[in-house]
Amino acid sequence: MGSVHSWELVTAVDGPGTRMTTFLAGCPLRCLYCHNPDTMSANRGVPVRAEDLLARIRRYRGVFLATKGGITLSGGEVLQQPAFAARILRGARAMGIHTAIDTSGFLGRNASDELLADVDLVLLDVKSGDPETYRRVTGRDLAPTLEFAHRLDALGIATWIRFVLVPGLTDDPANVALVADHAAGLGNVERVEVLPFHQMGQDKWAEIGMRYELADTRPPEADAVEAVREIFRSRSLLTY
Ligand code: SF4
Repeated sequence: MGSVHSWELVTAVDGPGTRMTTFLAGCPLRCLYCHNPDTMSANRGVPVRAEDLLARIRRYRGVFLATKGGITLSGGEVLQQPAFAARILRGARAMGIHTAIDTSGFLGRNASDELLADVDLVLLDVKSGDPETYRRVTGRDLAPTLEFAHRLDALGIATWIRFVLVPGLTDDPANVALVADHAAGLGNVERVEVLPFHQMGQDKWAEIGMRYELADTRPPEADAVEAVREIFRSRSLLTY
């Protein structure tokens, strides 16, 4: 059984091709910019049996194969439910479906080598390069994410780094440069995605009665996003 918040079919996000992204409920981080704060609590999920989710995945197998897509387990934090995730990843692999996990890496130690052997792609959200900024953004430590990144590199698992650019919070060039340095120090990073902050999750914070600190923060200007991408490109990282 897993605690599942929701799922959706998406194209050109959360990995290649058309994907079924499943949002698992529960997350140990408290990102100030979280656009799915309703996934932070495991209690807001619905219990779902692994075989039922796999049956749903099977229905879309033809779409995944035709578009070179697959499944992405996201959240919340997928590695907060490692046994359930492992069942889904193994089952999808057995159907010949491409598998991805979208994770902060904070709970990377929960991922066994067996689980990771069934993962084709990791979308690793590196929320800041400077440990103090990371703590301000997430309430947690950066170190486990970096440890997990190096483990993925040692295992040769393809990884896309994702970084959310938030004006006044993560946009200090020194902070970005540290993320870029970490990414450039890995041999398995296929691309870096710079994601501009947006306000689309704002209402959800009020709905669940949590204080939202970024109400006055505006999305970054296009040239600021481009400048950040350039920091990654300057380290020969393929950047979107
Ligand atoms: S890791 Fe993701 S789900 Fe968890 S608080 Fe941060 S943005 Fe939200």
